[in-house]
Amino acid sequence: MVSQQIQEKYAELALRTGVNLQKGQALMINSSLEGADFTKIVAKKAYELGAKDVHINWGDDDLTLWKYQYAPDEVLEDFPEWRVKLHDMYAEDGAAVLSIRSTNPDLLKDIDPTKVAKANKAAALAMTNFRKYTMNDKITWSIISIPTGDWAQKIFPDKSREDAIASLWEAIIKIVRVDQENPIKAWDEHNETLKAAREVLNEKNYKKLVFKAPGTDLEMELPEGHIWKGGSAVSEKGITFNPNMPTEEVFSMPHKYGVNGTVSSTKPLNYGGSLIDNFSLTFKDGKVVDFKAEQGEDTLKHLLETDEGASRLGEIALVPHESPVSQSGLLFYNTLFDENASCHVALGKAYPTNVEGGSAMNDEELDKAGVNDSLTHVDFMFGSEKLDIDGVKADGTTEAVFRNGTWALDMTSK
Ligand code: ZN
Ligand code: ZN
Repeated sequence: MVSQQIQEKYAELALRTGVNLQKGQALMINSSLEGADFTKIVAKKAYELGAKDVHINWGDDDLTLWKYQYAPDEVLEDFPEWRVKLHDMYAEDGAAVLSIRSTNPDLLKDIDPTKVAKANKAAALAMTNFRKYTMNDKITWSIISIPTGDWAQKIFPDKSREDAIASLWEAIIKIVRVDQENPIKAWDEHNETLKAAREVLNEKNYKKLVFKAPGTDLEMELPEGHIWKGGSAVSEKGITFNPNMPTEEVFSMPHKYGVNGTVSSTKPLNYGGSLIDNFSLTFKDGKVVDFKAEQGEDTLKHLLETDEGASRLGEIALVPHESPVSQSGLLFYNTLFDENASCHVALGKAYPTNVEGGSAMNDEELDKAGVNDSLTHVDFMFGSEKLDIDGVKADGTTEAVFRNGTWALDMTSK
């Protein structure tokens, strides 16, 4: 088990560098009963840092599974209004939101994917207003993870439960830089590196990116006025925060009508408690026109059918293959980690902040600007040491952006 002192360091990092909790601010935490010890460390630290109120939404994998097994469909498809209200009230009050994720990736593998898809859609629809607060950076929010037994044993199947949890703690602590003397300073430096990288790409202002790897041959138009982001973000109130810990990506958005060709996954995708693996998608004018998956094809089909925008892309993220997450050599079956080991795209909603003036645009303006909208936003990984990316400028000149899975551009100078 990881020491109390390390857990306190991690909690402080999540509160300061993650959500950047301010004095007098409320904090809402989403966490699991299995992670109660760590969650209470976070809550106490939050009060010590001046939080006026800490509210925790407790979840539990067993309870979730039993609900799917025993509750009638109409209960699963009816997302309770009080839950929506709770989130909206904290958001309106300007609370920070910290999610501590640790779900078993196989939790719902034996549940009918149609049932899961319906419940997910109902929840997404109900939370539309709250999602605007996070996806437009109106409030500060952050996602971190801690190990739980089932998840840890999925990653380390040959180890005892206890050893698997210890090994996963060790991996996470290293990846989120909590093993370093001063993790907050380490993150400041890391954020500077990501800032330099996004500035290089913003300066380049590519019109199109071309991706080539085994099973992947994809042309992706980038919208006019697209913005590359990465590392820390700034909230509406001017508070710097880190939405994801870890994060190794710089990301922007594809034009919702400008994606053509085929992309093949390089890591399994854990979606709603089931795995989708070895899959490929073919796009025409931004829309998926063909797909196949060796595992979880039904789940993928339901994901694509969530709504019109679920079969279009809302994010392109570039991650060099030598990121600390890749270097761990582990497959996490958890997007927060796996997406930071690999270039990825997201099916579904784009972050409006990835285009100039996007946060202030109405639905029609967003569509015209090429910004995809959907109830869903699901990242999947297609990067590998074999991925090459070319950048095409407005005048047609082409240059190497990635070769063999890593930067071919000088990412340190502008
Ligand atoms: Zn991403
Ligand atoms: Zn994403």
